[in-house]
Amino acid sequence: MALDTSIEFLKTVGVERAKLIKNTLGIVTVEDLLTFYPIKYVDKSRVFKISELKPQSLEIELQFRGRITEIQELPYGKGKKRLTAKFWDDTGTIELVWFRYSKWLLDQIPLHREVFIFGKVNLFNGVFSMPHPEIETDEKKAVSGTLLPVYSGSEKLTKRGINNKFFQKIIFNLLQNHLDELIQENLPENLLKSLSLMPRAESFLNIHFPKNHALMKEAERRIKFEEAFFFQLGYGLKKQHHKATVVGSPFPLVGHHFNDFYQNHLPFELTNAQKRVLKEIRSDMKKPIQMNRLLQGDVGSGKTMVALLSMLLAMDNGYQSCMMAPTEILAQQHFNGISELLKDTDIEVRLLTGSTKTSQRKEIHETLTSGALPILIGTHAVLEDVVQFKNLGLAIIDEQHRFGVAQRAKLWAKNKIPPHILVMTATPIPRTLAMSFYSDLDVSIIDELPLGRKPIITAHRKDSYRLSVYQFAKEELNKGRQVYFVYPLIEESETLDYRNLIEGMEHITDYFKNYTAVMLHGKMKPDEKEAAMQKFASGKAQIMVATTVIEVGVNVPNASIMVIESAERFGLSQLHQLRGRVGRGSEQSFCILMSSDKLSADSRKRLKTMCETNDGFRISEVDMQLRGPGDILGTQQSGVVDFKKLSLTEDSSIIKTSKYLVELLMKSDPKLEHPAHCQLRDYYQKQYRGKNKWGRIS
Ligand code: ADP
Ligand code: MG
Repeated sequence: MALDTSIEFLKTVGVERAKLIKNTLGIVTVEDLLTFYPIKYVDKSRVFKISELKPQSLEIELQFRGRITEIQELPYGKGKKRLTAKFWDDTGTIELVWFRYSKWLLDQIPLHREVFIFGKVNLFNGVFSMPHPEIETDEKKAVSGTLLPVYSGSEKLTKRGINNKFFQKIIFNLLQNHLDELIQENLPENLLKSLSLMPRAESFLNIHFPKNHALMKEAERRIKFEEAFFFQLGYGLKKQHHKATVVGSPFPLVGHHFNDFYQNHLPFELTNAQKRVLKEIRSDMKKPIQMNRLLQGDVGSGKTMVALLSMLLAMDNGYQSCMMAPTEILAQQHFNGISELLKDTDIEVRLLTGSTKTSQRKEIHETLTSGALPILIGTHAVLEDVVQFKNLGLAIIDEQHRFGVAQRAKLWAKNKIPPHILVMTATPIPRTLAMSFYSDLDVSIIDELPLGRKPIITAHRKDSYRLSVYQFAKEELNKGRQVYFVYPLIEESETLDYRNLIEGMEHITDYFKNYTAVMLHGKMKPDEKEAAMQKFASGKAQIMVATTVIEVGVNVPNASIMVIESAERFGLSQLHQLRGRVGRGSEQSFCILMSSDKLSADSRKRLKTMCETNDGFRISEVDMQLRGPGDILGTQQSGVVDFKKLSLTEDSSIIKTSKYLVELLMKSDPKLEHPAHCQLRDYYQKQYRGKNKWGRIS
């Protein structure tokens, strides 16, 4: 018997059943069967006394020993009958009741002799009663030495006799007769000891047939740890391999460009978080190993400045940099902002997007290949093959969730020695998810906002309050502030949404007569968009009516009100991104979430969360609870976090521990050569070779 033996060779399974089980549950091998973990357990290991019944014991199934008497049929409802009986032991009585029953059942019920009954007890009109009890006369069959597993079956299988008992039996037989030959320990002894983890074989026994609840929990902890550990190990080994094989350009110098800017042109003091992150980046880029770093920082935390300072470091070491943004608006804005910051230096920056004119484009290409241009900012246009650098040392990707892996790979190829890569994101993802999903990137986190920002006040208003919301916006406009109105534009209902946007715009121009409103949406031409943005950014327009194109990056500090229409249709991270467009200046900012009167439970939870907190990480946790980790990462990547027992929402401490331990291991024995680690290596190679789910990022 081996783990990869097909289950058709197991006694009592056979070809036909094996096929059925494969098609409905995807179980093919003995290993699949052993890791077909129970979804819950029933406890027939104890016999309870009726006197032990308490209102709080009502939710679980319990077993009693006693006698059944006084069976009778009683009419209830419209011409229906139910069957009741009395059950008693030497401590009390309860009622048994059947709402569906046949003559056959009636005859089967053993009266006046000792039986075992099993089921959930209700408290009904002050009387304890057990509906549809399981009845067993044989003590050996009734009282089991363990909790009994319940597996997720299917109706189709049950009809063919492949029910829970069937799975219990074949799994029990496997464990009884073949456990030692099938299951070997795969974690090092000292690790088991220090974490008091249950040995592997024992954990299989106890996950299927635990003697008690505590042992089941221990088995579960061991299995979860193992899942987390090998997942981290996969990333750890990959990262190790990367560091050993992929060279990068070392940037040892902090030179004139960095120092001059830092000392003479920095418009504000960096936050401590910005300083720390910059140190992390610098220490990476000093080494002759290519950097792959993720910079996570909530909206408005000042990632752009970190990006610029990193580019100046590259320049001091004789290398060029590029920074890529997902939209024209954003690239343009980065370009404007960075040009402004560098205006008193002699550092040249250029912008390359889809709408760059041919003549300029040519010039940019030339200055890039000659090495005259140190910093390029752009959109996807940067990735085109015609764009070649003399010596690209650093590539920065803003809002990385908008870019795919393939696009990142293209950046690699832009230089003989691959450039250092810094990806930035303002879409916080839960820490556990980041730790697992981004395990092959080093992560830096800016967890502090620049001083003096006032937390945004968020409120939820039903549509019926629209006039008072408009009134409030008017008051803020009168104080000299600016306002965003955002409308959803979701593809399936695009024409309808588009009409809502246009109607909204008409409404708003009508109501806010003394002010100028501009509109911004995805169907506009780049120069129209740019013009609208300019008008709003310069303050010539005070109101912007837009779709989610303004979601990322747009920076107008004087805008202090964000009204989000049909907010119930947005996801949490999107709402958070949108809200990040205000609260960028020193004035108190507001975000108003408009919704219809009727809301689903999930929508209500989303809006409530937004009103309660500004913390992007908190929000992402709720988002993960509502949608599950797969949805947060997108379907394309959800397989990466496909665990059997481990939960990314509940097991963060296990994930942290396993990550920490893998990091230690990678430092002490990166090739797993130590004799104590050979089981680890063997298991990893057998299990994961060829499956390489980790060959994913850059
Ligand atoms: P994000 O991290 O969302 O990309 P930005 O880089 O756009 O944030 O920064 C948001 C705003 O905060 C910008 O106007 C920027 O100039 C300003 N800013 C950045 N760092 C600081 C700081 N240390 N002190 C004050 N303002 C800062
Ligand atoms: Mg940004």
